[in-house]
Amino acid sequence: MELNNRYSIAYKGLKNSTHDFHFEVDDELFAAYESREIKGGKLAVELTMLKADNQLEMDFAISGEVTCECDRCLEDCAVPIDYEGHLIVRISNEEGEYDGDIMWISPADDTVDLTQYIYESIVLSLPYQRVHPEGECNPEMIARFAVATDEEIEAIEARAQQSEKRGIGEGDFNKLAALKAQLESEERGE
Ligand SMILES: [Zn+2]
Repeated sequence: MELNNRYSIAYKGLKNSTHDFHFEVDDELFAAYESREIKGGKLAVELTMLKADNQLEMDFAISGEVTCECDRCLEDCAVPIDYEGHLIVRISNEEGEYDGDIMWISPADDTVDLTQYIYESIVLSLPYQRVHPEGECNPEMIARFAVATDEEIEAIEARAQQSEKRGIGEGDFNKLAALKAQLESEERGE
């Protein structure tokens, strides 16, 4: 991916101590992953990295907003994102599986690429409900498409939470869409 250099750190020349980094995220990241949920965004990534011989310990703070389709009126709405996370990058010839908390790179790698981690962290920070603030929806759009009412959205959310408790994984990325479809088909009496 062309973006790789933008969110990569050439760690090898750095001293074993703490280093601060700043990255800007814009529409390009979401376009690169062909995100269906996020149309664009503007966020700042602040990273504090503690470098040691065999690992990089990273503390992330990602804040800003992304553009999503409003669940109520289907027009674009800004969704605030505020994420804090911790990532360990192990520098080892062993090959472990990246699980979102620990990433593995080879001592032969000159850089560590954080593109995927940053993208995933933003996607996983999305709230279930993505709506305009009360009263800011486009009333024409609501009338035209008869989109979900607040009560329906609440019902969708309640179901999503229940499904989570029962461990029914529909995938965080399309959970809302799936539940919405289910609700609609139930309403049609299917
Ligand atoms: Zn809206």
